[in-house]
Amino acid sequence: MEEIRYDAAGLMIVREDYYCEHYEPDDGALVPMKECWCCKWSNFRTEGKDGGSDSYSVCNYIGNMKQAVNR
Ligand code: SF4
Repeated sequence: MEEIRYDAAGLMIVREDYYCEHYEPDDGALVPMKECWCCKWSNFRTEGKDGGSDSYSVCNYIGNMKQAVNR
């Protein structure tokens, strides 16, 4: 598995095609696929499409935060 990276706030950085066992479909995703992009814990759908990377976002699930994982 790839090395897990975190942003400055300790949130896990996720690729749009990644997912974990905490996946929960977001109501806003028309066709929920089991990917971070469609998960309610990611920021993919709330981030602007311009600026930043299209392929990466952060996971807001508290159990995936750096402090929680490395405890
Ligand atoms: S956004 Fe977070 S909780 Fe959702 S599938 Fe991705 S890693 Fe898991």
